[in-house]
Amino acid sequence: MAAGAWLKECARVVAAERERLTGLDAAIGDADHGANLDRGFQAIVAELDLGDEAEPGAQLVAAGSLLIRRVGGASGPLYGSALRSMGKALSQGADLSTALEQAVEAVEKLGKAVEGDKTMVDALRPAANAMALAVQEGIGVREALDRAARAAEEGAAATTPMRARKGRASYLGERSEGHRDPGATSAALLIRALAATW
Ligand code: ADP
Ligand code: MG
Ligand code: MG
Repeated sequence: MAAGAWLKECARVVAAERERLTGLDAAIGDADHGANLDRGFQAIVAELDLGDEAEPGAQLVAAGSLLIRRVGGASGPLYGSALRSMGKALSQGADLSTALEQAVEAVEKLGKAVEGDKTMVDALRPAANAMALAVQEGIGVREALDRAARAAEEGAAATTPMRARKGRASYLGERSEGHRDPGATSAALLIRALAATW
C-alpha cells in the first residue's frame, strides 16, 4: 500500500493535464478545473509527508483535508471528502475495494449526484462497481484496479452526450450536451493513477 506514491502520481498527472481539464471546464463551466486541482495536489506534494513509512490511511485523510482547504469550487470538497473517507476506511482495516466504495459514497452523499447527471460520479461509480465485482470474482488487486480504471475512462467518455443536472454545467441546460465533463475526466485520471501505483 503506497498512498504517497499514488498522491504524487495524481499531482504529476493533474499538472500534465491541467490545460486540458481547464479547457473542458471552459466549455461548460468557469475554466478553472485544471487550475483548481493542480493547486490542491501541488499543496499535497509540498506540505505532506508522502514517504512510505507514514500510515496510508492517515496520509489520505491529511491529503483530503488539504484539498478541502486549498481547492475552491465544487471539486475540492468532493475530492477532499473522497480521500478522507478512503483514508478512514483504510485506517480501520478495510481493503482497497471497500475503501474506494467509501470514497465514492462520500462524493455521492455530498454532491447528491447520481450516474447520468454528467459529473465525476459518472466515472467514480462505475470504477467502484467494477473493482467490487472483480474482487468478488477472486481477481487480484492489480487486475481489479485496471478494470476500475477502464470503467472510469469509459464512464468519463460517456458524459459527452449527457445534459448536466448538477454543478455549474447544469446552468447551461441542453447547451451542456456534446461536451465531456471535466470532473469525470479528472476522476478517471485519478483512478488510473491509483491503478498505476498501488
Ligand atoms: P467549479 O464548478 O465550482 O468551478 P470545478 O471546476 O473544480 O468546480 O469542478 C467541476 C466539476 O465538479 C464538474 O465537472 C463535475 O464533475 C463536478 N461536480 C460539480 N457539482 C457536482 C456534484 N453536485 N456532484 C458531483 N460532482 C460535481
Ligand atoms: Mg470550474
Ligand atoms: Mg470555479
